[in-house]
Amino acid sequence: MKKILILFCGGTLAMKRDNRGNLSPYYESKDLIKRVPHLSEIAAIDIENIVNIDSSNFQPEIWTEIAIKIADNISKYEGFIIIHGTDTMAYTASALSFALLNLGKPVVLTGGQKPMDDIGTDGINNLINAVLVINYGIPDIYIVFGTKILKGNRATKISESSLDAFDSVMRLPLGEIALEPKLFIKEKKTRSQKLKLKPKFEPDIVIFDLFPGFRPKYLDEIIESQCKGVILKSFGSGNIPDNFISLIGRANQKDLPVVIISQCYKGSTQMQLYEVGQNALNVGAIPGRDMTLEAASTKLMWGLANYKAVNKIRKLFNTNIAGEVTISN
Ligand code: ASP
Repeated sequence: MKKILILFCGGTLAMKRDNRGNLSPYYESKDLIKRVPHLSEIAAIDIENIVNIDSSNFQPEIWTEIAIKIADNISKYEGFIIIHGTDTMAYTASALSFALLNLGKPVVLTGGQKPMDDIGTDGINNLINAVLVINYGIPDIYIVFGTKILKGNRATKISESSLDAFDSVMRLPLGEIALEPKLFIKEKKTRSQKLKLKPKFEPDIVIFDLFPGFRPKYLDEIIESQCKGVILKSFGSGNIPDNFISLIGRANQKDLPVVIISQCYKGSTQMQLYEVGQNALNVGAIPGRDMTLEAASTKLMWGLANYKAVNKIRKLFNTNIAGEVTISN
């Protein structure tokens, strides 16, 4: 049986309704393990508590803690499961994919839309499926949830209530859960490179969503603040209104990267397609291509913590670090 370390971070699965009817953290990891006696038939499980919080309260310091914990235990276990709230699970999955480069083991994030003591909770099945995915032994960072097996840094939470809470619209799933979990990917060659732990993130970034009428003065205030990087969710294929162009240029001169991603649910930047995209490119905007918001923002935070200068960040966004982006050539 494979040895698996579960890192417990809370989320709905471990919550209970309080007397006002609100779900809040309640159960602990040992309660969870008691509910799933089958686990010990399919793997040798150890469990450690990281936090027990609603994942809305996650901070980059917790990503750092999880990354270090995995790196410290990498030779002791054949895989890792992170029990996590769904709200920011895709951010954690993305952040870990940068913090743990050349990861030679499978890491699965999972949780539940329904608490473990609700009739019909999905969390127990999700946890069992997470173990079965690890048993395939294929290194990657996965989100296993409902019927989906997704690449973590390509996934997004798409529903607040469906038991299939996640999808990865710009990339095919890595597998599916039918009667059993089935992976579509082939076993990767054994990695010769050593695990590279780079667990730091710079949280001083801002994410803006464009809309018709948005006053550039608000972005201007951000550029003049302590902010170290901006993600701009643009129209369509990376299109930016004319009244934002000089601001982006000024940000670039101040060594403040402005990364452009698409507002489209299914979308990639193609900034040469329209003049309004090309203008932004000309003044230094950095195309985020088909990255999710979760991947782009955590990559920017990670890049700023490790490289800083805008040209280094540009190079980083031109590089596929952990399968988070499609770059042809
Ligand atoms: N608010 C919860 C969380 O992210 C939602 C969930 O776990 O499904 O912790």
